[in-house]
Amino acid sequence: MGRAGEHPRAAVGGLTVTVLLDADGVRGWMAGMAKAVDRERDRLTELDAAIGDGDHGISLQRGFTAVEAALSAASAGTPGAVLMLAGRTLVSSVGGASGPLYGSALRAMGKALADSGGADAEQVVAGLAAARDAIAALGGARGGDKTMLDAWIPAVDGFDSAVAAGEALQAAALAAAAAAEGGAEATVPLEARKGRASYLGPRSVGHLDPGAASTVLLFRALADAVQVTGG
Ligand code: ADP
Ligand code: MG
Repeated sequence: MGRAGEHPRAAVGGLTVTVLLDADGVRGWMAGMAKAVDRERDRLTELDAAIGDGDHGISLQRGFTAVEAALSAASAGTPGAVLMLAGRTLVSSVGGASGPLYGSALRAMGKALADSGGADAEQVVAGLAAARDAIAALGGARGGDKTMLDAWIPAVDGFDSAVAAGEALQAAALAAAAAAEGGAEATVPLEARKGRASYLGPRSVGHLDPGAASTVLLFRALADAVQVTGG
């Protein structure tokens, strides 16, 4: 399944194609996230050392390495099935808060995509919204509590607005990544009200939330995974 459909939107080398998020796209997304987490492990861990327990980069590296192994052992599947496997793997391989949070998010997105062989921009938005809602339901945080939700909320809103404005999947994913980045930066002056950082109270002010920082990596990896690379 994949790169041709009845709503052509992206012009590539004279051809018009609709880019869908298919199973290979999700695999590329997860592989990109695993690479980003490898590269940024120390930075994520330093951010967590400042207001948490200094394991965020290490935890996510363990988690996404396990996701890579699980996905390479599994058959191609649908985007939803790949996301559900990735989510289950994160929940079972990461001990910290972020494993169950990211894991539930990916599982919820996978469930939202159901049996679709390739998700279009609207379906991706619905899946991401389900992922955001799963994080909120599991962690009980709201926007402004200085958590990963402070990056997820603007990212999903940015994706949604771009799609509503008629942007293709690729442009919408780039808008979401930029919005995630803005949301993460905006956690710096906040006081943490959820998670380990909340134990610090006012001393959590002045630091970037590590989970918001890793959420930026996740949305950048998604934007990379849906870029048109050929005609
Ligand atoms: P732990 O805090 O268990 O060591 P990690 O260090 O892996 O877990 O992840 C910390 C990140 O998880 C935080 O920076 C924050 O973004 C996110 N987080 C923690 N608790 C919550 C929550 N209740 N809701 C949403 N996100 C949370
Ligand atoms: Mg931690």
